[in-house]
Amino acid sequence: MRLTFLGATHTVTGSKFLLESGNKRILVDCGLFQGLKELRLRNWEEPPVDPGSIDAIILTHAHIDHTGYLPRFVRQGFRGPVYATPATVDLAGILLPDSGHLQEEEARFRNKHQRSKHKPALPLYTLEDASVALRALKAVPYRKPQNLSPHLTFELLPAGHILGSAFVMVREAGKSVLFTGDIGRYDQPIIFDPTPVDGADYLLLESTYGNRLHEGREEKSGKAMLRKIIVETAHRGGSVLIPSFAVGRAQEILYILRELELEQAIPALPVYVDSPMAIDAFEIYSKHKEEHDVEMTKLAWSGQNPLHTGNIQFVRKADDSKRINEHTFPSIIISANGMATGGRILHHLIQRLPDERNAVVFVGFQAAGTRGRQLIEGARSVRIFAVDYPVRAQVHSLTSFSAHGDYNEVLRWLGGFRKPPRKLFLVHGEPKAMDAMQQHIEETFPGWNVHAPEYLESVEL
Ligand SMILES: [Zn+2]
Repeated sequence: MRLTFLGATHTVTGSKFLLESGNKRILVDCGLFQGLKELRLRNWEEPPVDPGSIDAIILTHAHIDHTGYLPRFVRQGFRGPVYATPATVDLAGILLPDSGHLQEEEARFRNKHQRSKHKPALPLYTLEDASVALRALKAVPYRKPQNLSPHLTFELLPAGHILGSAFVMVREAGKSVLFTGDIGRYDQPIIFDPTPVDGADYLLLESTYGNRLHEGREEKSGKAMLRKIIVETAHRGGSVLIPSFAVGRAQEILYILRELELEQAIPALPVYVDSPMAIDAFEIYSKHKEEHDVEMTKLAWSGQNPLHTGNIQFVRKADDSKRINEHTFPSIIISANGMATGGRILHHLIQRLPDERNAVVFVGFQAAGTRGRQLIEGARSVRIFAVDYPVRAQVHSLTSFSAHGDYNEVLRWLGGFRKPPRKLFLVHGEPKAMDAMQQHIEETFPGWNVHAPEYLESVEL
């Protein structure tokens, strides 16, 4: 077998790994590069492998950094099946068209403001390209080995990262290669823990939080912090605004709000979920019962909806979204996007930021250059649609919400290996996190062969 790294090398985006075995060529993940310009430019280059020569793609999960290149890849000539879990197929069904729509909007923006050398600027792919790509998706359940050829099989195992997320185990004549995709966390709400794995000959391991530990102490947990903020804000007569990623985080927050209400740890406030994509994701999260952990299943069996608070309103229409502004009593508003770079969250910020009674709570990573980052770094005003708004509301950043395991959780998972992999490849991490992860692994598991591959590096297995 030959393995070639086409992305997620010393970066957390663009996951794409080419595995060649006999005359079969398989791609694991087909992710979009995001963030730094030199990375994003790779999306526009000729792909380093002829898409028409690939027999099949296997997806670890629906996040765009693992799937977002697929529409372009199909347009460039890929004609095979794309295997993924049923929930990943459904989530890709909302995430990929949204990504196509954003690509088209970006091209429109560049044309309008003449921000491109290319005339006219074209989108990387369109909403239509995304719809075409979705037709190639084939749902494959967890733990059911699938044949790619008489000698080559793969199996999907729950990864505990987001709904539908999977480890991909590829086997060929006594040899195995495990792709972790993104590894989730232990004891988080709704979905399973990462599946214990007792061995693989070759391991591709993500290292997003190789240099970080999530807050473990109860009083500093995301839930406890959220409780305190909500109680204090409601006491001031203000509202709590939560910019959130529509898939995964929004559902986790709702689950926790419901628990807090039930424990009477917070007042029962009206909760607005103001994001059509988040609402679609809620339906997918509720539908895929095969993904639910024991607690979630028990709650559903008892006839409760674990993702509904007592007074919840799902807001699809833009007009209804604006109408939330008229409500001045304390409430909780969950809206997208999570970094406040666009979407309905913007008009909520315009409405709520200037009032000192309100609180804005960021629950996800805020990338450099985003409005979210400015706010958590203490900006006194922010510019939205060319107008500066004063920041008088309290701004909080709860970093303990994460869908990625920290290095202790990853080490705990690696502890399941009965013998060391012949080689462990570190991928999907910024350089600092990757270096730290390598150190942690070498200290915890002396003698393990750990390597951080370069972009386009190719190795014989
Ligand atoms: Zn992910």
